[in-house]
Amino acid sequence: MKDPIVGIDLGTTNSAVGVVDSGFPILLADRDGRRLVPSAVYFGEDGEVEVGRAALRRRAIDPVVTSAKRLMGRRAGEVGSELGGLAVRDAGLGVVEIECGGGRGVTPEQVSAEILKALKAIAEERLETEVKRAVITVPAYFNEAQRGATKRAGEMAGLKVERLVAEPTAAALSYGLDRLGESSRVAVYDLGGGTFDVSILELREGVFEVLATAGNTALGGDDIDRALAEWVLGDEAAGVVDSRVLEEACRVKCELSEADEAVFRVPFYEGKRSLEKHVGRVDLERLLEPILEDAASCCRRALGDSGHGAEELDVVVMVGGSTRIPAVQRHVSEIFGREPDISQHPDESIALGAAIQAGVLSGTVQKVLLLDVTPLSLGIETLGGLMNVIIPRNTTIPCKAGEMFTNARDGQESMRVRVMQGERELARDNWELGCVEVSFSPGPRGQARVGVQFSLDENGMLEVLARDVATGVDMVLEIDSAAVDVSDESVERMVDESVAHAREDMAARVGAEARLKAEELVPAVEAVLGEGVSEGDAEERAVIEEVLRKVKELMHAEAGSELKAAVEELDRVTEALAARLVEEALGLQLERGLEE
Ligand code: AMP
Repeated sequence: MKDPIVGIDLGTTNSAVGVVDSGFPILLADRDGRRLVPSAVYFGEDGEVEVGRAALRRRAIDPVVTSAKRLMGRRAGEVGSELGGLAVRDAGLGVVEIECGGGRGVTPEQVSAEILKALKAIAEERLETEVKRAVITVPAYFNEAQRGATKRAGEMAGLKVERLVAEPTAAALSYGLDRLGESSRVAVYDLGGGTFDVSILELREGVFEVLATAGNTALGGDDIDRALAEWVLGDEAAGVVDSRVLEEACRVKCELSEADEAVFRVPFYEGKRSLEKHVGRVDLERLLEPILEDAASCCRRALGDSGHGAEELDVVVMVGGSTRIPAVQRHVSEIFGREPDISQHPDESIALGAAIQAGVLSGTVQKVLLLDVTPLSLGIETLGGLMNVIIPRNTTIPCKAGEMFTNARDGQESMRVRVMQGERELARDNWELGCVEVSFSPGPRGQARVGVQFSLDENGMLEVLARDVATGVDMVLEIDSAAVDVSDESVERMVDESVAHAREDMAARVGAEARLKAEELVPAVEAVLGEGVSEGDAEERAVIEEVLRKVKELMHAEAGSELKAAVEELDRVTEALAARLVEEALGLQLERGLEE
C-alpha cells in the first residue's frame, strides 16, 4: 500500500487504528495481536515514554496519564485540578498541564501525540510502509479549540490530519450503508469512557448528513467509576480518590454488566486495612440514574433539533464501551421507543468508520460524502453587546457565511471584531474564540463598510475574514490554534443555559436593540425640532416632544419592551414630519436643478 491514509479513533479510554484493505475496513493489531491501545502514557524522568498496556502496567508505582482527551483544548480555569489521580495545573496563560512525575508536566496534546505516535508505529509495522496521513475522529460535540488541539496532536505525531470526523458519523459509516435503505435516519448513541454523544444522521442518496448533535464532553464511564468509588468509600471519599479504588470500581462496574452482584475489594487500602464491599447491580443502577438522565436530555434535544420524532428513526446504533451496561440499553430503548441495535462492536466501530472515511479520501472506497454540523453557533459581538449569529448551530459544514457591519460613532477609526461561540443572546455570556481589529478611514456614523466572513472547513476549523470594503484590506483570523478564552461552562451547560435563560435573554436583546434604535433616533429628531421645521404645526410638535421625553426617560431605565414601544411610537409620530422633510429636500434639489 503506497502512502496510505489510516483511520484513527483517539478515544478517552482506548484508541485504535484501521485501514481499508481490499475493500474491507480492518483494525491493525500490535505485536501481541491486540487491536485496542489503552489511551495511557507514562513519561519517564529520562525522557522515555511508554504507551498503552506497557504504561498501564506501571500504574501501581508510577504516575501514568489516562483520559487526557477530557482536557484537550480546554483552559486551566475550566477544568478541575485532578485527572485520574494526577494533578492538573495552569502552566501559565491558562495552558493546562498534567503532572506526570517529579514535578514535570505535559500538555494534553503531548499525551495524545504519544498515543498517535504509537498507533502510527503499529500501522507502519503492519503495513510495512511509512504512514504520514490520517483521519482522526473527535466527539461531535468538540468545539473549535478541542478540534484544533486534536489536529495539533496529530501534527506533533508526524501525521498530516486529512480530516477530523465526528465519532457518531464514523459509527454510522461502520454500521454500513448497505444495511440502510435509500433514505434512512439513524441515531447514534455513544457512551464511552469520558464523552457522550448522540447524533441524528440522515442518509440520502449515498450522502450522510448529520441533522443534529448533542452531547456532553465530560460524561462517561469514568464518571460511573467515580460515582461507584465514592459510594463505596462513603464518608472517606473526600478529596482525590485513590487510583486503585477507581480501577477496582471500573472492574466491578464491568462485572456487573454480566452478573447481579460483585465484590469490591482493595487490599491494604490504608495500611493493613482492606476495603471490601458487596455491590449489587441495583446499587450501580441507582448511581447511574443522574448520568442517564443527563444523557436522556441530550437525546431529546438532538431529536428536537433534528426536527424528527423518535418514531421517524430507522435504527438506533449503540457504540462506546459503556453501552454494554444493560441498564443503559434499557434506558435507550425507553427514550427512542425501540430496541437499539447492538450489533456494532462497541469499542471498534468508530475506528472502523474512520478507516472507511480514510478509504474514501484515498480513493479505495467508493465515494461517500460526509456532512457534519457545527455543534454551537458562531458569530460576532455587535453594538450593545449582542451576539450576532453568522453560522447558526447545527449548520451543515463545510459552510461559508458573512454579513456587513458599519461604524457606530462619527469619526470612529477602527472596529473590534470579537468572534464568539455559543447560544446566548448577549455576547458576554458566550465564549470568545478570538478577536481582530479592523481599521478604516474615519467618517460619519454608518459610513464604514466592514464585511465579515466566516468559513468553516470540513474539519470544523474556522477562518474569519474581516474586510474594509473601501480599501479592500483583509484581516484574517484562523481559529485553530488561537487561544480560547472560554468561561467555566461546558458546551453542555451552554446549551442548557440558553434554554433556561431564553426569556430574560430575549428581553435583554429587545432592550439592547431598542436602546440602539433610540440612540440613533433621538439626536435626529432633536436636530429637526431644533431647526424649527415644523413650527407651523404646534400640535404635532407637542406630541413629538412628549414621546421624545418618554423615550429619553426609558433609555436610562431597565425597561426593554416599554422602550421598544416608545421608540416605535416616536417612529410613528415623526412619520409625517419625516415625509415632509424628504419632500422639501427633493423640492430644493429640483429648484437647484432648474436654476443650474
Ligand atoms: P470507550 O471510550 O468507548 O472505549 O469506552 C470505554 C468505557 O467503557 C470505559 O469507561 C469502560 O469502563 C467501559 N466499559 C467497557 N466494558 C464495559 C462493560 N462490560 N460494562 C460496563 N462498562 C464497560
